[in-house]
Amino acid sequence: MTNEELWQATLAQIQFSISRANFATWLKNTYILSKKDGGLIISVPNNFSKEWLENKYNKIIFKILRELDEGIREVSYTVARAAPDRQKSKLQGRQLEQPSELEAVKYKADKATNLNPKYTFENFIVGPFNELAAAAATAAAKSPGSAYNPLFLYGGVGLGKTHLLQAIGNSITKEFPQMKIRYVPSERFISGFISAIGSKNVEPFRQMYRTADVIIMDDVQFFTKKEKSQEELFHVFNLIYEQGKQIIFSSDRPPKAIPDIEERLRSRFEGGMVADISAPDYETRMAILKAKAQETGLEVADEVADYIVSEVQRNIRELEGALNRLLAFQRLNNSTATLGEARGMLRSIIQAPNRSATPKKIIQAVAEFYDMAEKEIMAISRKKEVVKPRQIAMYLLREELKSSYPFIGKRFNGKDHTTAIYACEKISKEILSSEFLADEITLIKQRIYSG
Ligand code: ADP
Ligand code: MG
Repeated sequence: MTNEELWQATLAQIQFSISRANFATWLKNTYILSKKDGGLIISVPNNFSKEWLENKYNKIIFKILRELDEGIREVSYTVARAAPDRQKSKLQGRQLEQPSELEAVKYKADKATNLNPKYTFENFIVGPFNELAAAAATAAAKSPGSAYNPLFLYGGVGLGKTHLLQAIGNSITKEFPQMKIRYVPSERFISGFISAIGSKNVEPFRQMYRTADVIIMDDVQFFTKKEKSQEELFHVFNLIYEQGKQIIFSSDRPPKAIPDIEERLRSRFEGGMVADISAPDYETRMAILKAKAQETGLEVADEVADYIVSEVQRNIRELEGALNRLLAFQRLNNSTATLGEARGMLRSIIQAPNRSATPKKIIQAVAEFYDMAEKEIMAISRKKEVVKPRQIAMYLLREELKSSYPFIGKRFNGKDHTTAIYACEKISKEILSSEFLADEITLIKQRIYSG
């Protein structure tokens, strides 16, 4: 039996002993690297697979292998680059954009808790920009219900909120296995609630949340304008909170900046610990890139790493996207990309910020942030809810695009250039005295450049 045949036969049997999801997750892209003197080395694509196979599946793999070949005395796992010809056949016909090594490890969310084991504290990198949020999350995970309750984390798109929230859940699952944890994206809570009302049977929905020991609710900015859902959340909150159970929220903005939300709910959001995640600094971005590259066992040239990390500043998800593309390229070519190659391949992802903002994007981002229609911002209205976003949009057109005042005025329903000047000056001044406004504008900018 060749090594290949031996491994195929082993895989065929393992399939009967573990779930399909686990099989696909942990055994994909594995093969026998060498077999010598009874010692078998199995190549796995990354450290996660290695750990899982060693700790969880080694026994069964070993048993099956021994049944097929008595001479085997030891099995070990190593993270190795796949053999070139193998790699080629696997990647042939694949687009570079398609899932590469980082995403190859597909984890499945647990049905009862909704948690995805891929998000842990161990693989969450902490730097000055997320230190407070990470520390609060760790504390809440260590003593659910007593430290920081509720915990409210906020920050722009792709900066690690979901990762941290899920890490809390996964850690509690491990440390306090008796606790019932429910992770839920706000949209799912809202749609679940709506369909429960529709079927005139809200009780099972309520039970699901009201009996939890830990509720983790992601992206609560989606509760804006959803009055009935807000009310339901408010009741769930009180019930859970009064029993001393833990609640964790995330949002893309601070509680104060969520529009159209009931005051009593807002004050609940603010009632415990509120921590923000800002944009990551160069060093942390580099650490994240290095860690993710290492998971795949592929090398990234120093100057290429520096290029990516310098260009992709605002969004860790994009950083991963750039790295994925690079790694796919490297595997395909079986070589380490040069700076020139990296530039060519990442051009479409990496753009200088000023090139990627447009008047349309700015207006869209502002409208979205304040949950208004674009035409509302443009409308002729002196209502405070409209005036402020409009002034901010004008300010951003000036700051980010260096647009002329007449241009800005025209863009907003043919207003006079003095209106534009007034708006820009007013916002520039207010930013200096209001940290809150400055925060809002940072978050809006993040949207402009990550969209
Ligand atoms: P958000 O929920 O804030 O939009 P996510 O939590 O989905 O962002 O993060 C986007 C991606 O970046 C995820 O794949 C996540 O694992 C990764 N990520 C974010 N922050 C970190 C970090 N500090 N260390 C490692 N990976 C991170
Ligand atoms: Mg998220």
